[in-house]
Amino acid sequence: MPLPVMPMKVTCQSCGWSKIIPKQGDVLFAPSHCERCGSEQLKLEAAGVLERLNPAAFILDRLRK
Ligand SMILES: [Zn+2]
Repeated sequence: MPLPVMPMKVTCQSCGWSKIIPKQGDVLFAPSHCERCGSEQLKLEAAGVLERLNPAAFILDRLRK
């Protein structure tokens, strides 16, 4: 199921670092770890109004492949 194009926000659960990631086509350039503290405890969420769709699980699943 294709997702609508929208920016994603990644938030570090350890230090609170966050970054907005533009989604380009089917590719999401999300970091695998925090750029500040190096933690892998990152939370991905929609930066826009579509948060209720909760695409984070889908994105994280893709990153692991
Ligand atoms: Zn961090």
